[in-house]
Formats: sequence, C-alpha cells, structure tokens
Amino acid sequence: MTTKTAIAIHGGAGTILRSQMSEAKEAQYAGALKDALLVGDKILLDKGLAIDAVEAVVRQLEDTPLFNAGKGSVFTHEGRNEMDASIMEGKSLMAGAISGVYNVKNPITLARTVMENSEHVFLSGGGAVDFAKKMGIPLESDDYFFVQYRYDQLQKARENDVIILDHTSVKNADNKKFGTVGAVALDAYGNLAAATSTGGMTNKQHGRIGDSPIIGAGTYANNKTCAVSCTGHGEYFMRAVVAYDISCLIEYKGLTLKEACTFVVHKKLAEMGGEGGLIAVDPNGNIEMLFNTEGMYRAGKASDSELIIGIYK
Ligand code: ASP
Repeated sequence: MTTKTAIAIHGGAGTILRSQMSEAKEAQYAGALKDALLVGDKILLDKGLAIDAVEAVVRQLEDTPLFNAGKGSVFTHEGRNEMDASIMEGKSLMAGAISGVYNVKNPITLARTVMENSEHVFLSGGGAVDFAKKMGIPLESDDYFFVQYRYDQLQKARENDVIILDHTSVKNADNKKFGTVGAVALDAYGNLAAATSTGGMTNKQHGRIGDSPIIGAGTYANNKTCAVSCTGHGEYFMRAVVAYDISCLIEYKGLTLKEACTFVVHKKLAEMGGEGGLIAVDPNGNIEMLFNTEGMYRAGKASDSELIIGIYK
C-alpha cells in the first residue's frame, strides 16, 4: 500500500495577468484555492478516498462565485446557466457525467450520483435535472446562480457578438480566461480520481457542451497511469482527447507524467491553437500543473511536500 497522498486543483486558465489584478483580488483567489485544497488534503491525510477528496474540493469551488462553476457560472446567450461536470474513479474506471443542467447547486455531486446510482455514465439537460430531483440532490433558484459580474460579461459579449471564455475582456476577444474548476487526487490506498465542473463559455449557444463533462477529454482517471482535469477552450480539448491521451502516452509509450503532459499541452494542443491547461497526478504522487496560457489558478500538495499556490506563468 502506498502511503503518500497528493492533490492538485485548478480554478481555470487564461490571460491572467498580474498587471490586471488588484492585490485584494489576488488574495481572494489565493485564499479560495488554499481553502479548497486543504479540504481535500485533510480527507486524504485522514485516510479518506481520492474520489471523496475530489468531490469535496470541487463542491467547495462550485460554491465560490469567483469561479465559473456552480454559483458563479457564466451565462448562455439566453441568460441562463447551463452547467457541465464529470467525475472518474481510477480503480474501477467508473465515471459519471452531466451536461446542460440548471438549478443544480453542486453539479459534481450529480455527476457522482449518476456514476454510483444509475445504470448510465452521462445524462444531459432535463433528464439529468429530473434524475437530480429523484435522487434528492439539492436544487437552487435562478437567483442563487445570478452573479452581477457574470451578467455584465454576457451583456458585453452580446453587444460584441462574441462567445467568450470566462473573464475574457471583450475589448480584446483574444484576451481569454477560463474559470472551470477541477481536482485530481491520489489516496493512501493508491487510488486516483479526477473531477471537473464548469459553466462553460459566456454567451454560448444554448445546448453547447464543452470538454469538461466528456470522459477522456476534460477528465480521466486510471490507477495504472494518472488522473487529469483540464481547463481551456473545450472545442480543442475534445478534438485532442486531452485527458485520455495523457494516460495513453504513459500506458502505451512509457512516458513519465511530466513528459506526457508537456507533450500534449505545449506541442499537440499548442500546434492546434488550443489554449488552456491541466492538472494531473500519477500513482507515485507526482503532480503536474501546466498551461500554455498566461496563467492558471492552481494549487497542489503532496503529503511529503509543501503547499504550492500559483496564478501566473
Ligand atoms: N473547458 C471549458 C469549456 O470549454 C471552459 C473552461 O475551462 O473554463 O466549457
């Protein structure tokens, strides 16, 4: 039995520039990342399971309006919140995913419930919300999800007729930020798990689904190789099948976690024009947090190392 544990989390990648961030805002983000990471770290140090750690961390980030998931999710063109999430357990290769859900307080918990209490892997829209009601998953009113700053982003995106990734400054549509949240963990029993949750893109077409709920694209976990959670321009991450590709490079080509992540983020995705990043952990507790954008909200900690928090490159 391994005894080392490790956890890494992200709160989105993009054009996150020190010059555009106030000290107060930076402290808010760093504090939120640290609090969430410590929730997961404690579960792991208390000999809890990786799947419980990643769910708990993502729930906490979903409850934090700073991030584009749960409360704080961006708006669709029609002014609604449609959220996507997925979770995967590396021991059994069990997975659960939901897309286009509304009024569900913690989409990641709904994804886990699909994994554990349904015969399916992926539920969408009204069917997923009906399942949430049936299973007694907490719902919230539209008001709960309304965050003024997100609504203002939608108005700007509509005026400029652009679909933008979280925190994008519309003046410069190339200035992209992605605010999805995710977590990956290794527990003391050698189990890996990954979870990802998002509101998607501001002004997105109703019904658009990104990479976050797609097993193998935005999320993947396999005890033999790694656990991965992605953030970035979902259309590219789907086409590059990012999370599973990293696992395959380790399993079939013998690459290390670092080599596999570096190849996919800095070569494969970069050559396609896919902006974003990811967090990953392997069975030895190695952590990777890398991105090809200006920054990524991130934090990581192994049981035998110090906490690392990062925002910029
Ligand atoms: N990957 C997410 C999506 O395309 C966005 C993000 O990471 O912020 O929906």
